[in-house]
Amino acid sequence: MLKYSLLIALLAGATYAGAQTKFQPQDTEFYEPVPRVVNTKANSAPSDALVLFDGKNLSEWVSEKDGSQPQWTIKDNILTVKPGTGGIVTNKKFEDFQLHIEWKSPETIKGEGQGRGNSGIFLQGIYELQVLDNDNNKTYTNGQAGSIYKQSPPLAEVRKPESGWHTYDVLYTAPRFNKDGMLIKRGQVTVLHNGVVVQYNTELQGTTEYIGLPKMKAHGPGPISLQDHGDLVSYRNIWIREL
Ligand code: MG
Repeated sequence: MLKYSLLIALLAGATYAGAQTKFQPQDTEFYEPVPRVVNTKANSAPSDALVLFDGKNLSEWVSEKDGSQPQWTIKDNILTVKPGTGGIVTNKKFEDFQLHIEWKSPETIKGEGQGRGNSGIFLQGIYELQVLDNDNNKTYTNGQAGSIYKQSPPLAEVRKPESGWHTYDVLYTAPRFNKDGMLIKRGQVTVLHNGVVVQYNTELQGTTEYIGLPKMKAHGPGPISLQDHGDLVSYRNIWIREL
């Protein structure tokens, strides 16, 4: 019996090796489809990105409250939260994307925990990637900068760089639902904070809730929104590439 199995294995191996020898290198090289050409330049958006904020205006955004022109401050190509005016939200909606965004904590350090330099980036408008002044500021780990708020703490606590400007590079895959609103596939997010991986294929548990458990509810494409949490957090150089 063992002999027979060995013979089969040897024959299979020989057939496989035979098939391999019939290939030429070019048989496994293909030329179509062709990747698009993307031009890049330091500190600016790739050529095929949709620029959401380039320092000039908020034409891609509206107020979350009432859809009017946002009141946030633009000065020296920097966008700053205007406390009390509410969050801002993109006109366009997205499904799977790569997002680049830079943020800076307020110049004056005040408050502590969640009350220090709090803002946030809501993916598809409902899943918050937290923005917080983390340095020497104790808070719950699934609420610190780089967390998916109240769901997933960051894999590392990335400190403020010398410039004060942080970067988030986000790779986002939206959750998928069937026609009945049943969850078919969980959403996933990978986040690099100043180039360091802080979320790695993190599965979204549901909507971001301040109190209570995340809620899983069916939705289609959604916007990017930025949170007004009452702190003077600044943003710059925001762009997105749909995948
Ligand atoms: Mg927040």
